[in-house]
Amino acid sequence: MNIAFIGLGNMGGPMATNLYRAGHQVKGYDTATVALQGVDSTHSATEAVQGAEVVITMLPNGNILRSVAAEIIPAMSRGAVFLDCSTVDVDSARAVAQQAEAAGLLPLDAPVSGGIGGATAGTLTFMVGGTDAAMARAAPLFDIMGQKAVHCGPSGNGQAAKICNNMILGVTMIATCEAFALADKLGLDRQAMFDVVSTSSGSSWSMNTYCPAPGIGPNSPADNGYTPGFAAALMLKDLRLSQQAAEAADADTPMGRAATDLYRRFVEDEDGAGRDFSAMLPRFEKRGRG
Ligand code: NAD
Repeated sequence: MNIAFIGLGNMGGPMATNLYRAGHQVKGYDTATVALQGVDSTHSATEAVQGAEVVITMLPNGNILRSVAAEIIPAMSRGAVFLDCSTVDVDSARAVAQQAEAAGLLPLDAPVSGGIGGATAGTLTFMVGGTDAAMARAAPLFDIMGQKAVHCGPSGNGQAAKICNNMILGVTMIATCEAFALADKLGLDRQAMFDVVSTSSGSSWSMNTYCPAPGIGPNSPADNGYTPGFAAALMLKDLRLSQQAAEAADADTPMGRAATDLYRRFVEDEDGAGRDFSAMLPRFEKRGRG
């Protein structure tokens, strides 16, 4: 296929490389200078999308997606797939999809989980909103860039699934970290705590797969000085999107709001910027109740 890839950063770069390695023709555009083997760099987004059967975007936020979409939609070929893999607000995803559909394109919102490691290894999970027809056209590309693509319903539902999942993740990571810090103060050994919780009703991905305590459980960023992994700043971004969506939909999300407030303090006022989101554990360790 002829593919255009816009936004060749930490995630987009390796995703584009995997498409090239699988035998596709890939043209790429990024506002920063990026050189990737096999990806033909263009001078503008509109140049990249000329004649492309699929256009993939992997951009920082909804405002940038909206402005790139306004530029490229008129330049895209009718019937082409517009596959946005960025994590953005549900409203931006739905607005862009509507414009794309009006121009005769097949839009999909398909945010990912799996991080930079998953993008490089081609093992991302895609959460997809859009029509069955668009989904069928993009399926071979999901197979190359990822290991799983879940069709979540119409446009915007991929973003909805992503922010609901990450709201649970933020909340369970905080709960796991505060429970470890409490266990320490109660004189409970961390290994014993892990052995009990990971096989009991308090278990979660945060405990079992991404344990925030160094030296306990499978290897995780805690074992690497809390170098991300999944940066606390990215968790904050996703939690803010969850609260923006909750506000718009009039949904009561007290735990999501508390998690957003804590990660905001951690990233903006404390030492959380540049650290993994599981570094909440050393944060709680240092604190008392006051
Ligand atoms: P990044 O900042 O590394 O990459 C974004 C790229 O977009 C940059 O190279 C930037 O120069 C480029 N860009 C910005 N404005 C542009 C424009 N107008 N036209 C063309 N290019 C433009 O970010 P990333 O880590 O690759 O994340 C991309 C998206 O994936 C984000 O929405 C993020 O929330 C999401 N995401 C990231 C991770 C992760 O672990 N990094 C995990 C899941 C989802």
